[in-house]
Amino acid sequence: MSSFGPVWVIAEQSECAAEIVSLQLVGKARQLAEQLGVNCESVLLGSNLGGAVRDLLASGADRVYLADDPRLELYQPALYSEIICMLAEKWKPEIILMGSTFMGRELAPLVAARLRTGLAAHCTGLRLDRDNRLEQLIPAYGGLMSIVCPEKRPQMATVARGVFATPARDAQRKGEIVAVPVPEMGEPTVRTLEIVREPVSDGQLEDARVIVSGGAGAGSAEGWEAVRELCRELGAGLACTRPAVDAGWAPLESMIGQSGKMVSPEVYIGVGVSGEQQHMVGVVGAKLMIAVNNDPKSPVFEQVDLGVAEDCREFLPVLASKIRAYRESRKACV
Ligand SMILES: Cc1cc2nc3c(=O)[nH]c(=O)nc-3n(C[C@H](O)[C@H](O)[C@H](O)COP(=O)(O)OP(=O)(O)OC[C@H]3O[C@@H](n4cnc5c(N)ncnc54)[C@H](O)[C@@H]3O)c2cc1C
Repeated sequence: MSSFGPVWVIAEQSECAAEIVSLQLVGKARQLAEQLGVNCESVLLGSNLGGAVRDLLASGADRVYLADDPRLELYQPALYSEIICMLAEKWKPEIILMGSTFMGRELAPLVAARLRTGLAAHCTGLRLDRDNRLEQLIPAYGGLMSIVCPEKRPQMATVARGVFATPARDAQRKGEIVAVPVPEMGEPTVRTLEIVREPVSDGQLEDARVIVSGGAGAGSAEGWEAVRELCRELGAGLACTRPAVDAGWAPLESMIGQSGKMVSPEVYIGVGVSGEQQHMVGVVGAKLMIAVNNDPKSPVFEQVDLGVAEDCREFLPVLASKIRAYRESRKACV
């Protein structure tokens, strides 16, 4: 029997299905669990969870700890962390993985602090070292930094959607379901009343074939409008870097990179983006990369296939109008 505890994924669900990031983490957890010779298990909290349980088992979970209760319908930080800590103290997982999502970004540190263990956030890779410790890879100092948690258990990490592949589904796979009672708690300090999903561009950024990502070089809200206009003309997904979020031009949901989304479009166009590693790590899967930057010496040009050394505020309106004119001419021919 292995001396290690199981590998856990704290899963998320919506509309009766497990979230893609949770399935991707189950795929990775399954690999790690097989290497350690332990179970791959998942914790699922919410209400009306039958479909999500099937997704987790079909994707590789051996066991699902299930807390299915109307009080858990919306993510509640106090209640969710209480249940996860209670389960972790009882079942002693070796590793706990969560998505770098709105929920995971808050819940993972809450759980890690209560379990008095370490947490590596926004990992871009996970593997076991030769002592079977979890190596958590994070871009830093111009390379990849490897973090281990040598003493404390569980080892905890968050990972964004798209870092790992979605595992193949095996609908015949069976697993164990362990019903988890929901504890009675007093009125919490923080309570989720409603979850409002903001639309990102015309659809999910992760599914967009072309992505335009605007950066600090857009310069102003007016400059940002030119980035938006190019997006509209191309029918592309609108993404951004951290400074664009900080300036209030774009929502956090559209940020690409280490602390944002991981995307693999056919075409990535970075506008006024300097090519910092924390952003570029989110687009390593892009097939064709283009950058528009007014500094011909910008490091971004070393990382892309095609570079345009122009002021984006002048170049983008011209490009958008050329695309519009081209589209109009094609319409006229049909
Ligand atoms: C732990 C950590 C995590 C992070 N995670 C992320 C993340 O997930 N995603 C992310 O994006 N960032 C992240 N960051 C921030 C990241 O390090 C960079 O600061 C950020 O990506 C830089 O954004 P930028 O390229 O838009 O801005 P800058 O680096 O300021 O670059 C702006 C570029 O625009 C060019 N420019 C200026 N004016 C014009 C013009 N008129 N026309 C054309 N080009 C112009 C400039 O030459 C420059 O190259 C993280 C940082 C840390 C420390």
